Amino acid sequence: LPIVVAVDGPAGSGKSSVSKAAARKLGWSYLDTGAAYRALSWFVVQRRLDPTDSDAVIDALPDFDYRIGTHPDTYHVFVGDHDVTDVIREPEVTAVVSAIARVPEVRAFLTGLFRAIIAHGEKRGIVVEGRDITTVVCPDAPVRILLTADEQVRMARRSAELTGHSAAHVGEALRRRDAADSRVVDFMNAADGVITVDSTDLDFDQTVDAVIAVVQK
Ligand code: C5P
Repeated sequence: LPIVVAVDGPAGSGKSSVSKAAARKLGWSYLDTGAAYRALSWFVVQRRLDPTDSDAVIDALPDFDYRIGTHPDTYHVFVGDHDVTDVIREPEVTAVVSAIARVPEVRAFLTGLFRAIIAHGEKRGIVVEGRDITTVVCPDAPVRILLTADEQVRMARRSAELTGHSAAHVGEALRRRDAADSRVVDFMNAADGVITVDSTDLDFDQTVDAVIAVVQK
């Protein structure tokens, strides 16, 4: 089995870009589990199902044909024949993802997929990033990190990413999503043995180096 680096944290903490860059530097694989929750959300919206109807979402799971790359440079997400890499970042998808992610059957289903992807990894290690990787998906990972940053900083970073949307709107959406998500899994506090990396006062490269330093310790 590859060495797993488990990284959790709230929205806008820089988790995805930092984890991807760390994987690239290490020459390891990368798995963005949030992308799977987003891809399932896109699929539910595409099927015109009600995202809050958990029975309908559970019924659709067997048809969810999902593929994700694990190479940090050629990272694409597919649902069936659709390349959904970009569309799953749209606010319309982001708005429904928490409702879908709170369904226990959905979490169990995706957790199974993640463990299979990790087990089939070809590289020596894999950086796996999400909300419950350190606690549920890979609680025995040799490296477990909680990536945090002050809320103001996270909001500012996220609104810089999403051009064309007002900062106030982006901030409010982020706060609402973190509140909903943290009722399902606690990614605001480090679990026992999990190392916190606070990026509030770090730039991007410094944050990547801080993560690598934890891996190499
Ligand atoms: O990380 P990202 O913001 O792309 O995650 C999108 C959503 O997927 C989160 O808001 C959360 O609802 C869900 N998620 C989750 N567990 C994970 C990863 C993501 O519930 N491990």
